[in-house]
Amino acid sequence: PARPATAPRLRPDDVFIAVKTTRKNHGPRLGLLLRTWISRARQLTFIFTDGDDPELQLQGGGHVINTNCSAVHTRQALCCKMSVEYDKFIESGRKFLHVPRWFCHVDDDNYVNPKGLLQLLSTFSPSQDIYLGRPSLDHPIEATERIQGGGTVTTVKFWFATGGAGFCLSRGLALKMSPWASLGGFMSTAERVRLPDDCTVGYIVEGLLGARLLHSSLFHSHLENLQKLPPDTLLQQVTLSYGGPENPHNVVNVAGGFSLQQDPTRFKSIHCLLYPDTDWCPLQKQS
Ligand code: UDP
Ligand code: MN
Repeated sequence: PARPATAPRLRPDDVFIAVKTTRKNHGPRLGLLLRTWISRARQLTFIFTDGDDPELQLQGGGHVINTNCSAVHTRQALCCKMSVEYDKFIESGRKFLHVPRWFCHVDDDNYVNPKGLLQLLSTFSPSQDIYLGRPSLDHPIEATERIQGGGTVTTVKFWFATGGAGFCLSRGLALKMSPWASLGGFMSTAERVRLPDDCTVGYIVEGLLGARLLHSSLFHSHLENLQKLPPDTLLQQVTLSYGGPENPHNVVNVAGGFSLQQDPTRFKSIHCLLYPDTDWCPLQKQS
């Protein structure tokens, strides 16, 4: 959908970005993000974790939120974090001087291209209900819905965006989700379908509200073969990821001043191409 000529351009503080992390990833993953993309999107990027860490608190400049959710990889713990991310975004509409129009969620192994994200989101009109991301599957998921109290079981089919690739919701749509998502409601909704956090978002948006996921190929998780992304399109992508220790070869194919040893995730190389004026980036060749 084209942006109406009258719609104002988005400002960086129109986009609230929630980064999901866990205590044991602070050292291995967060440092890299803070030195790269978060340094260019500090204003509205918030880190949602599960343990106190004074060092991260310092680096994060007050943007680190301890959810007090448990530090385990269970549906309940992950849904607990998503529920706090959602509540903080809704609260930002009352507490921030400027009301952010977009909520975006990413994992702590995502690189976000701040300029690309702003550009993508500015193609939509603020009044549209938008749920934007990359579907995990090539078909809608079918879930069993258990209605509280009664023994009624029905099935619902819906698309959902992979949390590990990042996704965004417009404020209007996020507000409509509140009966099923706010103040702990998200966790009960997730229990109703017994699905992970990202599926539950899809269930609320498509299954309960009747809105649709807009499929975008600009969001990327390590479930894809990242080596196959054409190098000349990398700087246009909105999110990227990497395979990590279990799959170290699944990284984007970017050339640059850093070897695979110096930059195993390739995030530093991408960052220096997007923001060559960064002080730790290799000096540019004079032309
Ligand atoms: N995560 C979490 N609690 C845990 C384990 C992981 O919040 O106990 C977060 C982690 O920080 C990341 C996301 O969940 O943002 C996905 O974790 P990971 O990348 O390790 O696994 P994946 O599901 O992508 O294989
Ligand atoms: Mn991951």
